[in-house]
Amino acid sequence: MYRLALLTAVLVLAGLQPAVAAAYDWPLKPFGAQHAIRGAFDDPRFAGDGDGGRTSAFHFGIDVVADDGEAVYAIDPGFVTLRRTAVVVTARGGHRFGYWHIAPALSSGEHVARHQLVGYVLPGRGHLHLAESIGGAYVNPLRRGGIAPFLDHTRPRITDVLLLEDGRPADITRISGPFDVVVEAYDPPPIVPPSPWSGAVLTPALIRWRLLGEDGLVVPWQSGLDFRRQLLPPSLFDLVYAPETRQNRPFVTGFYRFNLIRGVDPQRLGPGVYDLQVEAFDTRSNVGRRSVGSAGTRARARSRLTVVTSSRTSAVVEYVWSSYARAR
Ligand SMILES: [Zn+2]
Repeated sequence: MYRLALLTAVLVLAGLQPAVAAAYDWPLKPFGAQHAIRGAFDDPRFAGDGDGGRTSAFHFGIDVVADDGEAVYAIDPGFVTLRRTAVVVTARGGHRFGYWHIAPALSSGEHVARHQLVGYVLPGRGHLHLAESIGGAYVNPLRRGGIAPFLDHTRPRITDVLLLEDGRPADITRISGPFDVVVEAYDPPPIVPPSPWSGAVLTPALIRWRLLGEDGLVVPWQSGLDFRRQLLPPSLFDLVYAPETRQNRPFVTGFYRFNLIRGVDPQRLGPGVYDLQVEAFDTRSNVGRRSVGSAGTRARARSRLTVVTSSRTSAVVEYVWSSYARAR
C-alpha cells in the first residue's frame, strides 16, 4: 500500500473546540460596515535578524486598516487588562479580545461596555491588530461566526505547485527519489487596502490535496494546512512555511510558500498515471485549484510529467496536466 509522511499528522493539535460565540461587529466606526484587512490569521511574521537572529511566528490576529489616531471601540464587554500598547478585554467565560498598537484610554481592572472607547491607534501604525482568544487559545476572527459583516468574494490563487528533490526543484520529467510538494498560494483581500499596503495578500484558510490514478482515487482529500480556527505554535513554522516565504511590507507583496507534503516515495506509488490536485480555500469557501506541473507553459505541461523510481525497475509514475487544472 501507498503511504505518505503527512504534514497533516503534525498539525492535528490537541482538540480545541471553541465555544460557538455569537458574531460580533467591527471595533472601528462604522461598526456595522466591513473594513479592509491587510493581515490574516496565521500569516507569516518575521522579526529580528540582528544579534538575536531571526525569529518567525504565525500572526495571532488580523490587521484591520485604520488611520493613525483613529478611535478603537470594544466589540464585546468585559474587564480590562492593560499591556504597554494594547488593551485586552476579558468577558465572562474567558472569551477575550486584544486591541493592539493603540494608546489605551482605559485602566486595568475597569469594566468596559460594548462600543465603549478603548484607545487610539498609535502614530505610524496605520492599523489595529485585533486578537481573539477562547479559553486561552487564539482563534481566527475571520471564521464563520466571528467578525461580521465579513463578505469575501475573492478566490485564493495557487500560483505554483512544485515538486522538490533535496529542496531543489525536481526535473519533473525524471524524478528518481523521494520528493516534497511545495505550494505557492495566497488569498487576495476582499477589500484592497490603501497604499502602501495595496499589494498585501492573505494566507488561505485551508490548503488540501488529493491524488488520483487511472482507476480513480489513490489518496482522498487531505487537509495539508488548516488555518480556519486555531493559531499554530511557532515550533511548526518551518514545517508549514517553506524557504523564500516573506511577509507583506509597505510596497512589497507577501510571498507564501507552503510545505504541503513531505517525503513522497515514488516506489510506493506503483506504475501508472497520476494527478496531484491541490485546492486552497478562504474562510468563506471560495476556492482556487491547481495541479502539479500546471505552472509551466502549456507545451511543457502537455508533455506529461514523469517520475522515475530510483531503482528504475518497476514504476514509472506520471503526473498529467489534467482537464481539472485547465478548468481552473
Ligand atoms: Zn498584526
